[in-house]
Amino acid sequence: MNITVSGVQWGDEGKGKIVDWLASRYDVVARFQGGNNAGHTLVVNGKTFKLSLIPSGILHPGKLNVIGGGTVLDPWALLREIQTLEDAEIKVTPDNLVIADTTTLLLPVHKDLDHFRESGVNNSKIGTTLRGIGPAYEDKVGRRSIRVADLRYRSGLQDRLQILLHHHNALRQGLGAEPVDLDQLCQQLLAIESKLSPFVRPVWAILNEANAGGGNILFEGAQGALLDIDHGTYPFVTSSSTLPGAVAAGTGIGPKRIGHSLGICKAYSTRVGEGPFPTELTCQTGRLLAKRGREKGTVTGRDRRCGWLDAVLLKQTCIIAGIDSLAITKVDVLDELEEINICIGYELDGQPINHFPAAVVEQARVTPIYLSVPGWKEKTEGINNADDLPVGVKNYISKIEELSGVQIFLLSTSPRREDTIQLVEDWVI
Ligand code: IMP
Repeated sequence: MNITVSGVQWGDEGKGKIVDWLASRYDVVARFQGGNNAGHTLVVNGKTFKLSLIPSGILHPGKLNVIGGGTVLDPWALLREIQTLEDAEIKVTPDNLVIADTTTLLLPVHKDLDHFRESGVNNSKIGTTLRGIGPAYEDKVGRRSIRVADLRYRSGLQDRLQILLHHHNALRQGLGAEPVDLDQLCQQLLAIESKLSPFVRPVWAILNEANAGGGNILFEGAQGALLDIDHGTYPFVTSSSTLPGAVAAGTGIGPKRIGHSLGICKAYSTRVGEGPFPTELTCQTGRLLAKRGREKGTVTGRDRRCGWLDAVLLKQTCIIAGIDSLAITKVDVLDELEEINICIGYELDGQPINHFPAAVVEQARVTPIYLSVPGWKEKTEGINNADDLPVGVKNYISKIEELSGVQIFLLSTSPRREDTIQLVEDWVI
């Protein structure tokens, strides 16, 4: 059976570690959305790896890693990532990495536009990763993107670039930026074509054949449900659908083959960038979570905002995303706390509400209603057996299960692969 692993908060839930832990049981690991705005940190045999575009299965010999067509691909960033892995003696070849021929290319014009927009004009700052993700997706739905498959044909590529640059150079003129030279960009792309092409194949066929031959696929989500373009805290979201449902369109596998949907949830909440965050803690406790959780963005190095777990958002997200079971990460970060709060409802203009509203002004105005539970004040970091968990952790976990309505399958107590506890004896997946 296939599995889809996705974040149920604002990203940075620790998906990379869980995907890496699961990967040995699957034949293929496939990304289906996002781009190098994602940052997955993995610690294997004491070595830290930071992956952005390449699926987390790359650290497992013999697995096929797939970049699906729902992603946006900065080809230069990909080549740098391949080089970094090769420097660490991890071979990346067409035998263990495949890129969908339909993948949209993310080009320097997209990064430029992201920078312009985020520079503060029009009060429109989202706090993006500045990787050009939004502008690349805009061009995709605007039907003027260059796709990976287009790189192979010089004349076709020139025609596509003309359409793309017609749009971007008009925008750049309005923004007071230099126009982009078509021939120069075409040359830059043709110069990397031979490096990329060996990896480029029809991913829909490969995935469907893998399943038909009895192989199992792990779909690896990036970002999180609250950054989803439709269901997240719009407009403070990313530009792709981050939910498990996006697997089908983003890879070319039928929607019935998404498989088990495993949601990854941090034991507290964090977010990077702007946008509503009802349970945010700007006090000493927030700083403690940030310090103990080493809450700095993998991609941009920005400080992450920290707060209590929001069970209203978690429940809403689990329903929308169709989450079958949860993995709770970074429980050890809460070890020193006397008392832990969980948001169980909101108040909006003096009225209680039990869901997160859609209107921007209401999202910014809700105040959380908390349930307080006792902390455990014991070291849990590195525990890898459920019997050794303090009773306070067990109670906290059961509370999350009760409030979210979803079974908790895994618990993670450190960034290391081995510090992962399977709470449900049977392999539910
Ligand atoms: P973009 O995806 O770069 O356009 O950024 C849009 C929003 O999503 C910003 O708030 C980013 O901080 C956030 N974001 C994008 N990717 C990630 C991620 O992998 N982890 C956490 N936040 C992310």
